[in-house]
Amino acid sequence: MTIRLAIVVPCYNEEAVLPETNRRLLAQLTRLQELGLTTDDSTLFYVDDGSKDNTWGLIESLAAADSRVHGLKLSRNRGHQWALMAGLLAVEGDALVSIDADLQDDVSVIEAMVREHLAGAEVVYGVRDSRQTDGAFKRGSALLYYRVMKMMGVELVYNHADFRLLGRRVVEALRQYGEVNLFLRGIVPLIGYRAATVKYDRAARFAGVSKYPLRKMLNFAIEGITSFSVVPLRLITLLGFLVSCFSFVMILYIVYGTLVLQAVVPGWASSVVPIYFLGGIQLLSIGILGEYVAKIYLEAKQRPRYFVEKVI
Ligand code: UDP
Ligand code: MG
Repeated sequence: MTIRLAIVVPCYNEEAVLPETNRRLLAQLTRLQELGLTTDDSTLFYVDDGSKDNTWGLIESLAAADSRVHGLKLSRNRGHQWALMAGLLAVEGDALVSIDADLQDDVSVIEAMVREHLAGAEVVYGVRDSRQTDGAFKRGSALLYYRVMKMMGVELVYNHADFRLLGRRVVEALRQYGEVNLFLRGIVPLIGYRAATVKYDRAARFAGVSKYPLRKMLNFAIEGITSFSVVPLRLITLLGFLVSCFSFVMILYIVYGTLVLQAVVPGWASSVVPIYFLGGIQLLSIGILGEYVAKIYLEAKQRPRYFVEKVI
């Protein structure tokens, strides 16, 4: 059995790594074809996410140099998830592998992914075995993130980013998800079908700098939770219930103190502390509600999700 494979690579200002990425991925395609796993019309598909450097020019020249290389240019920067989605929805092939441009993911693992797919898995997750090359902060925050997501009831594959193989059926299922707040890591497990994982060591970025500064990472984390879980809203309700119970007990105690003990001293603390306490909880709760209202607002507008400027 041979399949038509397409490797989708989102790129944002990646001119520093792209030639090397292209060299390694093409070598991989050649190898898979020699092994008889993939067809000769398997492709490498770059998505230029509105880069400000010469990434698109580079993609054009790479495409001119090898007929297996193709590309798509978005009209502006839409972020990693959308660049990836645009590529997945545009490219043909029986199985699509998505991989970052920076060579942090081990390209040789693609062979194992294809073999798993041939053995019947519709989704193959690339899972990092070690995170030695990431800084302590990135590692710690990632671990915390998975913990929180799990607590919130969001099903995620541990230590899996966006390096995965999707069979045609899964890609067509993905097409039906109309959401504007896109979090592929959360959606793919929801689709179902048979899944497999392959492990690899994550390397450091080959060249260039991370396009995910702390601010973007935090945004991405909040997006992931509020798009997939209503647990924070439920927590507000629980908190409200607990605080109400507590106040009720307080009232009983005050009544008891006044009538029976007749020893209630008018206190400053007992009137000021609850004001701050309740004020804080209320602001927090309104903030969480706001996150969800914002989501509804964005989804309700049903804006077009991206525009394709050019395809080669
Ligand atoms: N990327 C993108 N659009 C963006 C930001 C990033 O297409 O707005 C691409 C980027 O070129 C890379 C991948 O998404 O191929 C992952 O980005 P990066 O390696 O910077 O993230 P990190 O590995 O640091 O989380
Ligand atoms: Mg990276």
